[in-house]
Amino acid sequence: MIEVSGLKKSYGSVEALRGVSFDIAEGEVVGLLGPNGAGKTTIMKILTGYLQPDEGTVSIGGLDALRQPQAVQAQLGYLPENAPLYPELAVQDYLLMIAELRLIPETERLARISEAVYATNLQEHLTRTIGTLSKGFRQRVGLAQAILHKPKILILDEPTLGLDPTQIVDIRRLVRRMAEHSTILFSTHILSEVEALCDRVIILMNGQVKTDARLSELAATPNAVLVLSEGPKDAERLLREVTGVKEVHYAQTREGYAAYRILGRRRGQRDICPAIYELAREQNWTLRELRRDVRTLESVFNEMATSA
Ligand code: ATP
Repeated sequence: MIEVSGLKKSYGSVEALRGVSFDIAEGEVVGLLGPNGAGKTTIMKILTGYLQPDEGTVSIGGLDALRQPQAVQAQLGYLPENAPLYPELAVQDYLLMIAELRLIPETERLARISEAVYATNLQEHLTRTIGTLSKGFRQRVGLAQAILHKPKILILDEPTLGLDPTQIVDIRRLVRRMAEHSTILFSTHILSEVEALCDRVIILMNGQVKTDARLSELAATPNAVLVLSEGPKDAERLLREVTGVKEVHYAQTREGYAAYRILGRRRGQRDICPAIYELAREQNWTLRELRRDVRTLESVFNEMATSA
């Protein structure tokens, strides 16, 4: 649905994108995650035809986004970082204006507007002027304009930026509802947002893709954690002899239990927990805990930020 290859973009001496490539399949919800200045907005502006890259190609729905921006824009819904809303217009007049600009046939306009208004829960605010709405409701108006023409692809630049926790939950619910019918790429620097909404994450740092993976793949490690009531003398040696185990690190827990962090040999190998359980049973160790050691997105992100 979206194919981006070798994107480069500089603003004067600032290299905002240094060769970014990724593909997004139909129906995926992908989070573009990165710290401030990583290049997220620049990518979104290029995808939506508001900015030309210095190098690279972008194909959206089979069209060349750089050569046919208008045809591509017809398939896209875009919520820019600072949605250019007209503060003096009433919500309904603004949406009517967008429907006209989007060339939605007159006979369909009211139906489309009411669908978008219903989806974004704006029913009771139609006659309010946009300038008097709270930030969360303005964001909903931004989303309503983005979905008005029923785009197959939604590009949302930091959709929850500056919202309070209740508004964040509302907008996330909305994005999840939209994901039932659309391919979505949204940018954020909030890790929990990606965990709450995405199938996949692309982590961008200094204008480069550092990781592009499904969340389940990122979380998986070949490691395990074992906690025993007491630390048998030869436990470390025996654990090290288990097939697939590379290293064993011992530490005492606050409760005085013996905890072992057991590192597997390679990613993607078979779960080592069953073999460890078998060993514990044979040795009559008193087991308090045995689990696979999963990584959080936060730890992945921090590893990358420190190695960047
Ligand atoms: P944020 O999370 O802060 O919105 P971002 O990941 O969206 O950041 P971009 O806005 O794409 O990052 O910016 C990438 C880099 O390009 C930054 O160093 C930024 O200062 C720079 N930049 C962006 N727009 C311009 C511009 N119009 N002129 C000069 N530099 C720019």
